[in-house]
Amino acid sequence: MLICAFDVDDAEGMEALGARLARVPVAALIVYLIGDLGAGKTTLVRGFLRGLGHQGNVRSPTYTLVEPYEFPERRVYHLDLYRLGDAEELEWIGLRDLLDGTSVALIEWPERGRGVLPPADLEIRIEYRDSGRRVTLIGQSPLGEQVAQQVDAASN
Ligand code: ADP
Ligand code: MG
Repeated sequence: MLICAFDVDDAEGMEALGARLARVPVAALIVYLIGDLGAGKTTLVRGFLRGLGHQGNVRSPTYTLVEPYEFPERRVYHLDLYRLGDAEELEWIGLRDLLDGTSVALIEWPERGRGVLPPADLEIRIEYRDSGRRVTLIGQSPLGEQVAQQVDAASN
C-alpha cells in the first residue's frame, strides 16, 4: 500500500489534481472516489476528463449510473453509484464488459457496489478541511501504487 495526501484549497485545485492523475499514462485503472456528498468527487473527475481534452460538461451520472468517454489512447467510464439500489443492478449495466481491464473507471460511491465491483487499484479519499479538502491517495495494487507515486512526484 502506498499513501500520499494533499491539501486542496478550492475546486480549481481539485480539477488540477484530477488532471495530474490523467497525465499518468495508464490505459486501465480502477479508481474508487470516497467522500461525502459535495466533497468534490465529480470535480476531480471533471479535471481528469478535461486534462484528457474533454470540453463539454461533466456531471455525475447519478441516474444513468455510468457515462462513457472516448479518447485516442483511453476509454474512461465515470460511475456514480449513489442511487444504486442493489449491487446486482450493476450486472444490468454490463459492468463486467465495462471493467474488463482495458479502460479507466472513476467510481463515485463504490461502497454501494461492494461485492460486485472489482477491487480498486487506487482509492481517493476526500475529507473536508477548513474551507478546502484533504485528499488522500491510497495505492492498493502495484499499478495503483505507481500511479499514486507519480501523482505525488508531480505535485512537489
Ligand atoms: P461530489 O461529487 O463529491 O458530491 P462535487 O464535485 O459536485 O462533489 O463538488 C461539490 C462542491 O464542492 C462544488 O461546488 C465544488 O466546486 C466544490 N469543491 C470541489 N473541490 C473543492 C475543494 N478542494 N475545496 C473547496 N471546494 C471544492
Ligand atoms: Mg458527484
